[in-house]
Amino acid sequence: MKNKLPDCAHCPVEPARRLCQKEGGLSPDWCPTRNRDLIDRCLQIYGQPEIQEFARVASVQEGEGYGGRELGYDRVKPVKPRILEIIEFARRMKFNRLGLVFCVGLRNEAEAVGSLFADHGFEVVSVSCKAGGLPKETIGVRNEEKINVGMPETMCNPVMQALVLNSEKTDLNVVMGLCVGHDSLFFKHSRAPCTVLAAKDRLLGHNPLAAVYTLNSYYRSLKKS
Ligand code: SF4
Repeated sequence: MKNKLPDCAHCPVEPARRLCQKEGGLSPDWCPTRNRDLIDRCLQIYGQPEIQEFARVASVQEGEGYGGRELGYDRVKPVKPRILEIIEFARRMKFNRLGLVFCVGLRNEAEAVGSLFADHGFEVVSVSCKAGGLPKETIGVRNEEKINVGMPETMCNPVMQALVLNSEKTDLNVVMGLCVGHDSLFFKHSRAPCTVLAAKDRLLGHNPLAAVYTLNSYYRSLKKS
């Protein structure tokens, strides 16, 4: 097992007995919780007041996502949709200006979300993935690689989305339905911290885990072995 890459997804220890969840708990050789150097570096980073406050508020928000805590861990239940968590987190952090980047395919949802944020007192800067109006040829996409083959088509422009929000000095950027890879570029170029309201899945109604939940049944053809 030595020299294996960290792989918590395949931790052999049952959750309640794991080193990361129980002092003196068990762990495999490659467990990241055994890496004292990295833990110390984390602590240095959390030692920055701004980061510590961000992390603290996120954890408070996490805790308040459960009702019935007074009844014990086995009785808790979720009580808030993610969109409310984003609103509450932004308010707790005293954020005033929210960025909203969305896929043009979710423009109706973006209108609703932008209005809801405004209704809760936030300034909203929203930017469609097509902002900038650059043709797909700009990045070397060929005619036959377009959605509407052979026709003029505007490229998704996540770098532009990030630059608009950066120049408007948003406090928190909310991502809604950007394509795989376009979202990566947005995260890379956004100056403000980001959170995801919705991950795009064109086939599954933006619920990508539906394919995961059915990997042993309807989506078994995805598996290689
Ligand atoms: S941190 Fe260690 S104990 Fe925790 S899940 Fe990962 S490998 Fe297992």
